[in-house]
Amino acid sequence: MYWEERWHPLREEWVIVAAHRQDRPWSGETTQHNEELLPEYLEDCYLCPGNLRVSGKRNDEYSGTFVFDNDHPCVGFDAPQTLQGPPGIYRSQPARGIARVVCYSPNHKLALSELEPHEIESLLGVWQEQYRELGARVEIRHVLIFENKGEAVGVSNPYPHCQIYATNFVFKTIETEARASQRHLAEAGRILFQDVIQAELEDGRRVICENDSAIAFIPYFARYAYEVFVAPKATHPSIASLSSAELRDFSDLLKQVLVKFDNLWQMPFPYVMPLHQAPTDGGDYELPLPHRVSPTSATAESA
Ligand SMILES: [Zn+2]
Repeated sequence: MYWEERWHPLREEWVIVAAHRQDRPWSGETTQHNEELLPEYLEDCYLCPGNLRVSGKRNDEYSGTFVFDNDHPCVGFDAPQTLQGPPGIYRSQPARGIARVVCYSPNHKLALSELEPHEIESLLGVWQEQYRELGARVEIRHVLIFENKGEAVGVSNPYPHCQIYATNFVFKTIETEARASQRHLAEAGRILFQDVIQAELEDGRRVICENDSAIAFIPYFARYAYEVFVAPKATHPSIASLSSAELRDFSDLLKQVLVKFDNLWQMPFPYVMPLHQAPTDGGDYELPLPHRVSPTSATAESA
């Protein structure tokens, strides 16, 4: 066995990679595949259409995608303003925002990987709208869209849904990626994520699938055993600027990757999937001509 350190150009840190890890026998847990047991509708599920939530609010009898404000947000603009200061060298500041839930479809048991391509496409259209709407608010500096799927990553309700945190702060990972991209452009005159895509295409071994305008690959600098980047080939600051053709290609690859994950272990694969998008803090994330803009990608990582 030997280890290798690989530079993660977006996070600007070294990742330790253990070579030959694929030889290690699988001794982990295999989760029971219980998809057949899941109903399409559950009376006591707080995400199913028409059902009552804990807050007393009732879900619409929705037939497509359904978006609502989270009843138990961990960030809220109505959070208490005066927090007692911590002792000594510790510091704190109010973290606020809007938390939303996006139900993918009215069917309790259909995972994202099982939705029809046109349904995934319209979900991505909702992500575009949400990013635009929330990002336009002055108090919102970043819009995080993410899905955590499966009990293995701590999600209690199997209902296919994702979450949105629109916050008055920018997550450090995003800040780092934006700064690294800006510096690379200034120093090398090239777009960092384009160089990443180029390197992956040249090597080719880690490219999972691609089409006209999107690509899915395991990055050279992967931090997890199962980590996949799904990205448009053109550079965009956020999902909001993708054309309808690019959106179709992007959802097509997203589905392919998720189906491959499910097939790999013969079970609905648990994952965390954050969308990496430019902050909405008023900063300039557009690229000077002739370049166009900085990276957007969705990563699906195993727990
Ligand atoms: Zn349900």
